[in-house]
Amino acid sequence: MRLSRYFLPVLKENPSEAQIVSHRLMLRAGMIRQASSGIYSWLPLGFRVLKRIEQIVREEQDAAGCLELLMPTIQSADLWRESGRYEDYGKEMLRIQDRHEREMLYGPTNEELITTIFRSEVKSYKELPKLLYHIQWKFRDEVRPRFGVMRGREFLMKDSYSFDIDQAGARRAYNKMFVAYLRTFARMGLKAIPMQADTGPIGGDLSHEFIVLAETGESGVFCDKALVDRDVLSQEVDYDVDLQPIVDSWTAPYAATDEKHDAARFDALPAGQQLSARGIEVGHIFYFGTKYSEPLKAQVAGPDGNPVTVHMGSYGIGVSRLLGAIIEASHDDAGIIWPDAVAPFDIGIIDLKPDDAACASLCSDLYGRLRAAGREVLYDDTADRAGAKFATMDLIGLPWQVVVGPRGAKNGVVELKRRATGEKQEVALDAALGRLIPNG
Ligand code: ATP
Ligand code: MG
Repeated sequence: MRLSRYFLPVLKENPSEAQIVSHRLMLRAGMIRQASSGIYSWLPLGFRVLKRIEQIVREEQDAAGCLELLMPTIQSADLWRESGRYEDYGKEMLRIQDRHEREMLYGPTNEELITTIFRSEVKSYKELPKLLYHIQWKFRDEVRPRFGVMRGREFLMKDSYSFDIDQAGARRAYNKMFVAYLRTFARMGLKAIPMQADTGPIGGDLSHEFIVLAETGESGVFCDKALVDRDVLSQEVDYDVDLQPIVDSWTAPYAATDEKHDAARFDALPAGQQLSARGIEVGHIFYFGTKYSEPLKAQVAGPDGNPVTVHMGSYGIGVSRLLGAIIEASHDDAGIIWPDAVAPFDIGIIDLKPDDAACASLCSDLYGRLRAAGREVLYDDTADRAGAKFATMDLIGLPWQVVVGPRGAKNGVVELKRRATGEKQEVALDAALGRLIPNG
């Protein structure tokens, strides 16, 4: 993409409405604009990152055997009356009337809708287990929308739902999601720690929030430091084997959100192992048994022919919140530092003097070859001052920058900069291509 043709409205000044760094940087880098309180438009740069994050979430759900579908954003109030949640949900639910004065709502979550799909189509235990998910916009009329996409009113969520014949089956589904979540967040360069979370009236230990540690996080959390730097991705996962040992290895060390905090257990840890911090909830997995299948009568015929009420769980990831969480975890004074896996472009080319023939020709050659090799490139071919170009490139945080000036261009040399470390190197064009094209 040539910057001269792109839509990247960067801001030089810090917007006064933004209280935390991720919100500030998303506005400054031209990623989002507020449409109304807690509701955002995604500009091209932000939308690219959103799509990449969504794709990682999707790939890991698919790998775990979860099947993607798409449910609507608008739901009928009657459905929620059946589960008893229409009144309970209170003011967070955005209620709408259609032209026939039928009561509708903008879905804050989808347990009711997915359960009715299940109950109409699945009749026998032989069709179980089933794990279904979608990635869809939700609306919750939060009392205090704030921190940009971190606590919006309209936000993108991945929500999965599991259906099993009994609790043992539901736990297998839970474990699959547990492991898929570990991998999902690790692939985005995040350290997300599963922490015991409140299960409400159902009880049990089958609810975990995945928490990214950050000073600006809204949750108080307590955990064993041993959980912080664990390697997640070096081993492939076989979702057909018993995953309980992996889950146990994560849940044995202490980790809990403040609602479930057990001070006695925490204090028993050696002082050097205690971590008391703040965190951002990026995912939440939850087994709730027959809480919805019971009132909504989601039953299948069991092996003896008698009807069995299915056991369910639901598993959410805050896809749009993740952009904020990643930036909170990865930035410096100059701007965002995107982990490679979610960066909007892999490489930025800065042409310091586009009206110099040697510069322009080297840059367009480089641009063409990188793109031919499948790399996503943002090519700054504008006539802006060098200082402004450097500042914009650092602000938007692409993992690699290639700087081309007239002197280097004459000798076929470019400057390669790694955004994360700030490390710079003068290299010949071919050497730069070698670094920027994996296996190239
Ligand atoms: P919170 O405690 O932050 O209000 P929640 O527990 O109500 O969230 P869940 O129902 O568990 O949220 O939703 C699943 C995921 O969706 C959360 O883990 C979070 O990442 C994301 N999420 C929830 N509410 C919002 C919001 N208002 N804005 C952005 N993301 C959200
Ligand atoms: Mg939650």
